[in-house]
Amino acid sequence: DNLIELDKKHFLHPTTSIQQQQEQGVKLLAESGQGIYLKDRDGKTYIDAMSSLWNVHIGHGREELADTAAAQMKKLAFSSAFSSFSHEPGIRLAEKIAKLAPEDLNAVFFTSGGSESNDSAIKLVRHYWKIQGKPNRRKIVALKRGYHGVASASTSATGIPEFWEMAGHMKDDFFHAATPYRSTTQEAIACLREKFESEGPDTIAAFMAEPIQGAGGVLIPQDDYFTEVRKLCDEYGILFIADEVITGFGRTGTMFGLQNWEVVPDVITFAKGVTSGYIPLGGVVVSDAIHNVLKQKSKGTLFHGFTYSGHPTAAAVGLKNIELIEKEGLVENSRKMGGKLLEGFKRIKDDLEIVGEVRAKGLLGAVELMKNPETNESFSKEQKVAPRVIEELHQRGVICRSVTYESTDIICFAPPLIINERQVEEIIDHLYQSISAVQEQLKA
Ligand code: PLP
Repeated sequence: DNLIELDKKHFLHPTTSIQQQQEQGVKLLAESGQGIYLKDRDGKTYIDAMSSLWNVHIGHGREELADTAAAQMKKLAFSSAFSSFSHEPGIRLAEKIAKLAPEDLNAVFFTSGGSESNDSAIKLVRHYWKIQGKPNRRKIVALKRGYHGVASASTSATGIPEFWEMAGHMKDDFFHAATPYRSTTQEAIACLREKFESEGPDTIAAFMAEPIQGAGGVLIPQDDYFTEVRKLCDEYGILFIADEVITGFGRTGTMFGLQNWEVVPDVITFAKGVTSGYIPLGGVVVSDAIHNVLKQKSKGTLFHGFTYSGHPTAAAVGLKNIELIEKEGLVENSRKMGGKLLEGFKRIKDDLEIVGEVRAKGLLGAVELMKNPETNESFSKEQKVAPRVIEELHQRGVICRSVTYESTDIICFAPPLIINERQVEEIIDHLYQSISAVQEQLKA
């Protein structure tokens, strides 16, 4: 049977142009994975330079995780964590994540993914304020170009307006300040302060941001940005939720992204890398201060929970995955190989005219393409420069992703944390060839 035709007929793909799917069919039908590589049905091998969706931290084909899942499924595949039920995998994983999270972020609420985590975090902080007699603190301030998921509140917190079209953006409660991209920390903080002031600080529950915006184009803030964010939130008594869904578990060369700048938020949301994508799992880590309020005896039940909050099999896989990240020194490797990746980007920039800013923090990196990097002049959208580079890379067997939002042409990289130096060079070689090819086409 023809899988591509069946795909068109029956499979509604996430975040996809359905029209394009119908006209062109899928581009890659993955069949197996090993290490940093994916293989399609025709046997062609690709470097998965995005770790699929920024999540396959320990690489594909790891039997340790498959064996862990099988063992847990045979013993206790599922059991509830509602009311007075619990189980060892859930308890152990919560304890482990509390140990890894900074300072007093010690209590974990589990979900099945990033969107559920961000919606949960938003409900939890509102609940926290309500218990304290401040039900007016409901608003969430986030950043433009931020991506927080597609559930109800996470869609609204997302700062890419295309995502608001379908779901009915809850615009009365969600606001967006400028992201610190192509601006100084001072300018970005002034904008955030202005947003807090204009909305009324005592109506704001929390500020939510990714330590490094991923879907927005791997936008790395200046080193002092989050220190200033922390100070500003403290000044107004606003909670700070760090969305570590992409940046968590070693992606940026530290266990959590904000640890690059030694900043401690009040809440962390995570997903993706916690299980390296082998099984869906996410969660919210809250500080003792928040936990203590939730614990108050008179305040009743937490009317929020998913069937799969703390799924035992997912928790067992998460624990094993984190154990492997630690045992194999993958956070350190992310830092080292991220340095090599950035060196490679810089060599390409020195050589090719259309390469503008290049950046990486650990194994989260990006290359920007520009008509004139000196003046920050962009290509027009019709030229489809970044998509053409992605297509060249694809032909050469490298999977990356482009961001073309708001006149940018950004090529994003997030390879598995197990990558070695030779493989980083392989990506760099293909990237060089691909950008050169498009540069030549543009001249022709
Ligand atoms: N937050 C960030 C920073 C993300 O990148 C994503 C997904 O890409 C999400 C949240 C949503 O996670 P999920 O797709 O698991 O719901």
